Amino acid sequence: MIIGVLIEITNKSVDKFFDYKVPVNLISKINIGKRVKVPFASRILVGFILEIKKNSSFDNLKEIIDVIDDEVILNAELLSLGKYLHDKTLASLISCYQVMLPKGYKASIKNKINIKYKKVYYLNDYDSCKLNSRQKEILNLFKDKEKLTEDDLEDISKARLNTLVKNNILRVEFEEVYRFAYDNVEKKIRKLTADQERCVNNILNTDKTVSLLHGITGSGKTEVYMELIARYLAKGLKSIVLVPEISLTPQLIKRFEERFGKKLALLHSALSEGEKYDEYRRIVKGEVDIVIGARSAVFAPISNLGLIIIDECHSDSYKQDNNPRYNAKDVAIKRAEDNNAKVVLGSATPMLEEYARGLKKVYNLVHLDKRVNGKKMPNIAIVDMNKEINKAKGHFSLPLINEINRVLENKEQVILLLNRRGYSSFVTCSNCGEAIKCPNCDITLTYHKSSNILRCHYCGYAINYVVTCPKCHEDSLKDLGVGTEKIEEELNNLFPFSKVIRMDVDTTNKKGSHKKIIDSFSKGEADILLGTQMVAKGLDFPNVTLVGVINADTSLLLPDFRSSEKTFALLNQVAGRAGRGEKEGKVVFQTYNADNYAIYYAKENDYISFYKEEMKVRKLMKYPPYYYLVSLNIYSKDKNLALIESKKCERVCFKYLDKTIILGPSPSSIFKIQNIYHYQIILKYQYQDNIYKILEKLVNYYATINKVNLEVDFNPIYL
Ligand code: ADP
Ligand code: ZN
Repeated sequence: MIIGVLIEITNKSVDKFFDYKVPVNLISKINIGKRVKVPFASRILVGFILEIKKNSSFDNLKEIIDVIDDEVILNAELLSLGKYLHDKTLASLISCYQVMLPKGYKASIKNKINIKYKKVYYLNDYDSCKLNSRQKEILNLFKDKEKLTEDDLEDISKARLNTLVKNNILRVEFEEVYRFAYDNVEKKIRKLTADQERCVNNILNTDKTVSLLHGITGSGKTEVYMELIARYLAKGLKSIVLVPEISLTPQLIKRFEERFGKKLALLHSALSEGEKYDEYRRIVKGEVDIVIGARSAVFAPISNLGLIIIDECHSDSYKQDNNPRYNAKDVAIKRAEDNNAKVVLGSATPMLEEYARGLKKVYNLVHLDKRVNGKKMPNIAIVDMNKEINKAKGHFSLPLINEINRVLENKEQVILLLNRRGYSSFVTCSNCGEAIKCPNCDITLTYHKSSNILRCHYCGYAINYVVTCPKCHEDSLKDLGVGTEKIEEELNNLFPFSKVIRMDVDTTNKKGSHKKIIDSFSKGEADILLGTQMVAKGLDFPNVTLVGVINADTSLLLPDFRSSEKTFALLNQVAGRAGRGEKEGKVVFQTYNADNYAIYYAKENDYISFYKEEMKVRKLMKYPPYYYLVSLNIYSKDKNLALIESKKCERVCFKYLDKTIILGPSPSSIFKIQNIYHYQIILKYQYQDNIYKILEKLVNYYATINKVNLEVDFNPIYL
């Protein structure tokens, strides 16, 4: 028997099957989709079996070393999805298979994650007169019990247990355990409102594959999802729910537990790799009805798939920003088509592409335009910082200070957003004007005051902060710009009797810390929750009656065609955190661009007007949804070579892509990252049949070239 194996190395030039012989003793274990250990060059590596055949066109084949799995890892659907990803992203096939799997299931010789077992003790027949009294004591623990686990017996010394085992009185067996334990929560089912019921029926009855549920914040979309899942389950069909990583809060998980008990599996970065391995295993074994997870959960090998829900469908987290650059929405639609299943996209602020497809009836468009039970949308005020800055205290305008004071007096809570972490965003020398940059990357270092270091948010480079300028050696470094750390300091000065919790990447990098912060704020242990966009998504605290945005412009000024859309979405989301309980909510946006339409329409909570305005810009500028985009990234350690090769790419595009607008090559927005230079070419097209073919040729060409790389990003989120 010969097998074709796809090996773990992600080098494009080894992205083909290697033939191996199977020794007789392993033949019965061979199936397509299992992992094998093989000799490769002078190493031992792991690969997936993708072919079984009688003959090979190569001589002197080596033998495989072992078959790793008892069960297939890549089932028929995953095998075909991997090929689909490879075709759509032009990334290597092995990277497409690896991306679908949790760490413990990937092909990797380094993988140490495995099934966890615990010892279980059973009582054999025994002759009690041979026992001493202390042994009898132990055996008494088995009264009325068939078996006891090692945890049950943790007070008994191992030596005493071993003696009993050696004398054949106790028998040990190993049982598989799952590392992740779900809490016991009380069942809770809410009765849908008439509006929610209408949405559910509409989505159940459409003949379109994709429904877009456009519902304002707090309109009860999550309840609609849960009801849909329940209706599909009643037909024996299972569901996948995708949520952006940072919205996958303990609160949300609890709501699903309340409704569906323990038939859930979670695929979430807050789980350890061991826990993820077990959750995945439960899915494979068919023990699970609903999978909830971030982007890669779209690949969960669930059988009888009926429904895929993508909450906050506008989120950029659904697009992977390294190879393979897939979008989970495309994968969801592909899986739905293959399985005769349905996709529900839900958002208060859909991406323009999505809403346009809804209006064109490519998607079934459904609206929920009121909050549940007649709750009002919060009242939003814009504070023009151009006028207020003279009276402001630090970064807080008087109107925002007054609102915070009012809320604190009422013993209510505040959420404050500043979408930038660290203390200050950059450090410059007031003598020579030098901004302190990362030596490896083309960006400024961020000052983190609590640890007194300057850190590169791209490569992690860090140095101690000193006031001496590295260039002119004067003691005149000053930090400018503002991050969450500085705002926290200002809050502590302005409101000394209030308690502030900060939630950003720096305070949530430890396992469980995210949950701790949310639990603590939820219990009222703090008055003010301050954070980056983490505080904007998915949180539901009834006592929050004020939301403040310190600087509504942070995402507006990014040089990106989606900056308005992102600003609108972020402001809308964070505003939606206010007034979710009995008391009405208020929102304050501080901005230097008070008449910008993204900020204005966010204040008005008017998605449709924003959509219309922004569509005009997109049309004029030839951006999605009017045009498709592809971004080519050409990079090399050699600055000159990167430029030469990017011009070569441009010539190829120019020659073969006759109906495409070609922009560049130009230095990428961050030219140097980790000492590698990046050039970018942007392609815009409406109809260009051969584009995949030509770009694939280019990618294959660069796979054979040393020192220069080409990466292609179809439908990029950022430019
Ligand atoms: P969205 O996902 O659209 O932001 P949610 O589903 O989180 O909205 O609902 C907002 C709030 O209203 C939540 O606190 C939720 O528990 C409550 N809610 C939603 N639907 C109902 C209902 N049918 N009956 C009672 N409360 C509901
Ligand atoms: Zn760096």
